[in-house]
Amino acid sequence: MTSKSMQDDGAKQPETFTGDSPLVKEVRPSPNHGDRKGRQPDAIILHHTAMASGEAALERLCDPASEVSAHYLIWEDGRITQLVPEHRRAWHAGRSYWGGERDMNSVSIGIELVHPGPEAGDPPYPEAQIAATIALCLDIMNRRSISPIRVLAHSDIAPDRKDDPSAHFPWARLADAGIGLYVPPVPVTDGPRYESGEHGQHIETLQSLFAIFGFGLTITNLYGVKTEAVVRAFQRHFRPALVDGVADGSTIETLKALLAARSGASMRSQAEVPTPDSTTPSPEAVVADIPDQTQVQRGRWLN
Ligand SMILES: [Zn+2]
Repeated sequence: MTSKSMQDDGAKQPETFTGDSPLVKEVRPSPNHGDRKGRQPDAIILHHTAMASGEAALERLCDPASEVSAHYLIWEDGRITQLVPEHRRAWHAGRSYWGGERDMNSVSIGIELVHPGPEAGDPPYPEAQIAATIALCLDIMNRRSISPIRVLAHSDIAPDRKDDPSAHFPWARLADAGIGLYVPPVPVTDGPRYESGEHGQHIETLQSLFAIFGFGLTITNLYGVKTEAVVRAFQRHFRPALVDGVADGSTIETLKALLAARSGASMRSQAEVPTPDSTTPSPEAVVADIPDQTQVQRGRWLN
């Protein structure tokens, strides 16, 4: 169809553009984007499409009626399609929060990986697709001076609504390439566990740790559905061996190690998350307040 006939039938076709990255093989403009409201992207959000095919996902991401999009789509064979220019605000995050920011769409670049999702057996991500994801993240981080620790999962920023990318996503591989905040997960062992329905000061302290890490979690001292969703999202990303929403010793120790690693990284580089204000306890203060695993086993944390 020519542009003349487009005008004639009144259809509005999104303008094409040049890909932002040399890695882009194809540009397929989506009409679903808006103004970044003066913000600059300083984060990358990874998703999976959870649809039967990449073609179906691409169709949906370009359909004005769906009102969703992403900047990039990475196919199983590693091909990269760009849908929205990076300087525009794509609609991939939805209602979301991380580290004080409530409008993640305005400050992030969204990357969708073609993947059928958990409903379809949750297969591993193909090697070529992971290699392309690593290359694209590094390219964006370098061009835009985005801190490695600002590469996040959709489920990190919307834990009660989203579960992508799946627990199979190889965050350790990305960490080897210098992408993401990562520590080797503390092994899962038997021991005390905190779970839905519990309440008390120890739950409040636990919630504070997750909130300081970045999750949108109100400190209530009750381990309710929101806390469980956050713990599940944390495990999916940082302790994928067991994603059950129960805060066991391995989960808590892994979280503490990540806070310590991030704190060390921030002393080496100022390209970090915003400094907590004076009313927020520092991660070090809260970590100091959390008993170590030996103390947990003695039951001090169990009330
Ligand atoms: Zn998503």
